[in-house]
Amino acid sequence: MGLLRRERRSLLSVHASKVAELGGLTVEMYRFGSWRSYLLQERCAELVGIEARLADIDALLGTGPAAGAARCSCGATLRSGAQFCSNCGRTVGTGGADRAPDDTIVERPPTRDH
Ligand SMILES: [Zn+2]
Repeated sequence: MGLLRRERRSLLSVHASKVAELGGLTVEMYRFGSWRSYLLQERCAELVGIEARLADIDALLGTGPAAGAARCSCGATLRSGAQFCSNCGRTVGTGGADRAPDDTIVERPPTRDH
């Protein structure tokens, strides 16, 4: 069904731009100290709705992310299709929760020695 694939593609691009907007909005709120959780929640709810529709489409097309619980390198279990670890915030990549993150963790050396 070409229609489903087309819908999936457009949902993915809408989702990506909404995630970017949400990120920008979050930074603005932080910068100006006007934190409005409800605005973020509204946008998050919208995104979760889009994700749910995408999951439905994936199920219909049989193209969903591989089943099985993946883990973040922090040890937290990742839900299927997760792009971020909800425990540590690390990016875990699209469509494959077990893909290694590109960024490496820089551990700060102990600065104080008496
Ligand atoms: Zn993590």
